[in-house]
Amino acid sequence: MTQPIARRIDGIRLAQAIRAEVAQRAATLTASGHQPGLAVLLVGNVAASAVYVRNKVKACEEAGIRSILERLPEDITQADLLQRVEALNQAPDVHGILVQLPLPPHIDAHTVIESIAAAKDVDGFHVANAGALMTGRPGLRPCTPSGVMAMLEHETIPLRGAEAVVIGASNIVGKPMALLLQAAGATVTICNSKTRDLSAQTRRADVLVVAAGKPKMIHGDMVKPGAVVIDVGIHRQTDGTLCGDVDYESVSRVASAISPVPGGVGPMTIAMLLMNTIEASEQQIKHENRHA
Ligand code: NAD
Repeated sequence: MTQPIARRIDGIRLAQAIRAEVAQRAATLTASGHQPGLAVLLVGNVAASAVYVRNKVKACEEAGIRSILERLPEDITQADLLQRVEALNQAPDVHGILVQLPLPPHIDAHTVIESIAAAKDVDGFHVANAGALMTGRPGLRPCTPSGVMAMLEHETIPLRGAEAVVIGASNIVGKPMALLLQAAGATVTICNSKTRDLSAQTRRADVLVVAAGKPKMIHGDMVKPGAVVIDVGIHRQTDGTLCGDVDYESVSRVASAISPVPGGVGPMTIAMLLMNTIEASEQQIKHENRHA
């Protein structure tokens, strides 16, 4: 007898719907004389970063958000980079600032991120935004975990009282992911590379979010029947195709729903970046109008 196949959570479709809403809100702002603007700083020549940045800029254009791409040389000094960020902090037509990571080793990424005005930190990486998330205050949330939350919400996955397991504890994915799930009422376990007996943790999960950066590390026998599995990982395989941290083939025979790679979390991350940019723009324009 063939086993049932899990429902495929379509990140492309949901991302399109979010981008359509962003475009509508961007048009409203533009009609009021304030086109939203996102500045992207790209330092050096990391090929993958150039691709990510190109996709972000293109997505902005499609949504009616003005994008300002600044390419900066690999050997820029930290002081000069901080000066560029400060100029953008002061620019009234720039509502979001994104510094593409990784930065060259002579630059301290934390210092650069902390130099971005928290209200313009559309990646949600500034300590003020991380602290706001930690303490349940309003703020800009990191795009990948908020994309995952949007997927779970759209799929009407119950989170209150659910056992959620997050694999990965990075500042940009795992930790904020766990905080968002906890804020939604889940009981959350965060696993990392030192976790003993990972399968014992993953098999308890009603909702399993995998962001470890290890190709196809989660197999069907590590998943509780009926669980919802979200795959954050992205890897290019030797044949040129993409895969995630989850072995889709075996896990889709056990889970009730699963996000694919490609076509899952990836498109949602960009959609949430656009949404953060619109929300940051609306806040800043409201504030500006109040003080005009
Ligand atoms: P990272 O390397 O900063 O963190 C990985 C985390 O996973 C660490 O906390 C580590 O301890 C943990 N880990 C590693 N191996 C493990 C194991 N065997 N068992 C349990 N935990 C383990 O990575 P990151 O930046 O958080 O990204 C994770 C993955 O998500 C990568 O594949 C990355 O490419 C992908 N990613 C995708 C998007 C997207 O838009 N879809 C965005 C960001 C990151």
